[in-house]
Amino acid sequence: MKFSTKAIHIGQDADPTTGATVVPIYQTSTYTQEEIGKHKGYEYTRTGNPTRAALEQCLASLEDAEHGLAFASGLAATSSVLSLLRPGDKVVAAADLYGGTYRLFEKVYRPMGISFAYIDGRDPDEFGHAADSDTKLIWIETPTNPLLQLVDISAVAEIAKAKGALLAVDNTFASPYFQRPISLGADVVVHSTTKYIGGHSDVVGGAVITSDQDVYEAVKFYQNAAGGVPGPFDCWLTLRGVKTLAIRMRQHEHNAMRVAEELIKHPLVKSVNYPGLTEHPQHELAKRQMDGFGGMVSFEIHGGRDEANRFFKNLRLFSFAESLGGVESLACYPPAMTHGSIPKEERERRGITDGMIRLSVGVEDIEDLIADLKQALAAI
Ligand SMILES: *Cc1c(COP(=O)(O)O)cnc(C)c1O
Repeated sequence: MKFSTKAIHIGQDADPTTGATVVPIYQTSTYTQEEIGKHKGYEYTRTGNPTRAALEQCLASLEDAEHGLAFASGLAATSSVLSLLRPGDKVVAAADLYGGTYRLFEKVYRPMGISFAYIDGRDPDEFGHAADSDTKLIWIETPTNPLLQLVDISAVAEIAKAKGALLAVDNTFASPYFQRPISLGADVVVHSTTKYIGGHSDVVGGAVITSDQDVYEAVKFYQNAAGGVPGPFDCWLTLRGVKTLAIRMRQHEHNAMRVAEELIKHPLVKSVNYPGLTEHPQHELAKRQMDGFGGMVSFEIHGGRDEANRFFKNLRLFSFAESLGGVESLACYPPAMTHGSIPKEERERRGITDGMIRLSVGVEDIEDLIADLKQALAAI
């Protein structure tokens, strides 16, 4: 079965009790059992819920994997993967990370005795140099946030295997429509389903997807034991979003490509980061490991915070907001928003300067989007 068909059908058979075509919202915390030890597979919603099960099965199928587990947020999903670690264990991560992931690593898990090494993910060899016998996990995002740099998933998967570490890939930016890390050798995929998978900026959620039975069982145990589960309505909203993931991603990409091409020609724009541009230093890798280039574009203007602020204040269609992946276009300012929790020196060292603007290009009419960007740039 192909991607768009799976998105609409897997885990979503007609409801066995009523025939409801759309998976119902099983808004219940508990389930009436027939006798001691005899029930229909559900006892308590933290442990399992049919609406959540439908979403989990569907997401696993989209990543060409065996198992999916849904969480209340992307960070809850990330935390469930880190729960596999013990004090003394080490994580090697690519430095250009989602700010909240960096904060979780540094402020929650480092004090618990887990160490983190950050390297330049563009060079696979750096993972090999940084990993030692204590390294249990390699953590990457690709494309990265907000610089849209790529990590070579197959190359890092080989290194992880050689070092006896698991490779986890945060696949939020590409979505499974454009990139399936498990088929490239990764052990675990993490999503913030808040973004492209949900797709409508109306629900927060996360997921862990794997074909590794041990990882699945450990993360499933943690899901029930720690309890960061999404509610049935949130699962239903996310599943409704998933149905249109393929057509939305195609339109996001089409619009992002046009936006990137316009920005690169603009005199007030210093540089543009988009893996679909032939100028992108890792364009060939993008073509190799992705089926498309996604809907995220970042760029640097000639100027700093004041000029960026005038740009944001003058936008009419793009909302000045955190987050990404919804049908509506958003613009954000990474130095103060998504990456505000990273110290300024560290941020600048990574290339996130005060002139950096990130766009989540939505699925509106492209001519309207380009006109909006041009008039806001004219105002700086
Ligand atoms: C948003 C995001 C997260 C965190 O997800 P939440 O749903 O906000 O908890 C993690 N990784 C990436 C790449 C993200 O964009």
